Amino acid sequence: MTPTGRPYAGRTVAFATMHGKERLAAEPFRELLGARVTVPKGLNTDLLGTFAGDIPRELSPIDAARVKARLGMHIDNTPLGLASEGTFAAAPWSPGVVENTELLLFIDDVLEIEVVEVSRVMSPLPRPRSVRDMDAGLAFAARIGFPRQGIVLTADDGDGPTWRKDLRTTSELTRALNELFDTVNEVTIQPDYRAHACPSRAEHLRSLTTRLAQRLATPCPDCAAPGWGPIASEQGLLCRDCGAPTALEAATVESCARCSHRVRTPGAARTAGPEWCQHCNP
Ligand SMILES: [Zn+2]
Ligand SMILES: [Zn+2]
Repeated sequence: MTPTGRPYAGRTVAFATMHGKERLAAEPFRELLGARVTVPKGLNTDLLGTFAGDIPRELSPIDAARVKARLGMHIDNTPLGLASEGTFAAAPWSPGVVENTELLLFIDDVLEIEVVEVSRVMSPLPRPRSVRDMDAGLAFAARIGFPRQGIVLTADDGDGPTWRKDLRTTSELTRALNELFDTVNEVTIQPDYRAHACPSRAEHLRSLTTRLAQRLATPCPDCAAPGWGPIASEQGLLCRDCGAPTALEAATVESCARCSHRVRTPGAARTAGPEWCQHCNP
């Protein structure tokens, strides 16, 4: 089948989420594609692993997203599925900085395509921290942004870790800390990264859903399938002085999700300064 016009107008896309992500995708999918985003009922994506660590994540982000999207498509009996997978990790260039990477996957089983968007930003949230008393706990929770930003408490009394989530108010937090400090000396406080509890992540996801919808609204110039857009940047911009390839971007590559059509666009810069060159400036 050859798609024409707005291939997703009037169609339903199942977003496999337990944490309100469908609300973030609803507007761009409606305005850019004319599609409706629904949430499959009875879905338990926590089985695939949680941010808090009470259920370990065993799949790579893309595989986890694929399994979730297919679960949702199965439940809703629709060929169109969406799922996202996020990670928070210390930045390799500065261990005090947290990076949030989001992967958003769209599956169309009629056209047999997968379209993926990935985005990485610096998170405003601090790294998890262990505290030894109530004052330090309340102070760090405030620094994270609680209660607007959710938090998760972890404590280990020797019999394995316990978790406290879904604390809504300072008095609930105080009670939970008191209970934990009855049996342990140290409680770890981390931001709750689930989309409904993490406004900065929700904002990041919202912009990613817009980018994906824009991409799905862009047809391949060759076969007209939806999902045309950049897939990679190509390194290897040549050094101005010696001509050796550097790590700087030389070109961007756009690709179709369905056929093998690709377009390579060289960047504005024709050469790299020698300060970027392994030979001239090792
Ligand atoms: Zn194509
Ligand atoms: Zn050089």
